Amino acid sequence: MVGDNNCIFCKIANGEIPSATVYEDGDFRVILDMGPASKGHALILPKEHYKDLCEADTAVAAKILPLAGRIGAGMKKGLGASGFNVVQNNGASAGQTVFHLHVHVIPRYEGGPAMVSWEPGSADAEVLAQTAKAISAAME
Ligand code: AMP
Ligand code: ZN
Repeated sequence: MVGDNNCIFCKIANGEIPSATVYEDGDFRVILDMGPASKGHALILPKEHYKDLCEADTAVAAKILPLAGRIGAGMKKGLGASGFNVVQNNGASAGQTVFHLHVHVIPRYEGGPAMVSWEPGSADAEVLAQTAKAISAAME
């Protein structure tokens, strides 16, 4: 769906609300996050409305990672970043707060914080095998 009336990212992606735009093509607008985790924190917004990655058109979704790579390279060359994180949240329990698919590209700098990471847990081989089966059996 294009132009969901209640969706702020639809309005930004389609140019109804101005934004600090890094890049634009027929499928995407890339903007700077208004609450950046670091200088240059960017959001890739599809112009089409998809709630999350599970809903996204696969042809559009397939273009996101190469675009993230180009943006990250631009951050390294243009901002002096030494690395970058690509982050994408699906669902409130995963930290998604805006329910229009978006991908964060977060530049990282020498001496600055890296991606906040998780506390590694543990699982035995049987649990891993059962868990892998549960996911694969449910995949479409
Ligand atoms: P998420 O938690 O993955 O849903 O990320 C939503 C992100 O969108 C947050 O990092 C917000 O700072 C950012 N954000 C929300 N509204 C706007 C806006 N109007 N312009 C730019 N960034 C926004
Ligand atoms: Zn939307």
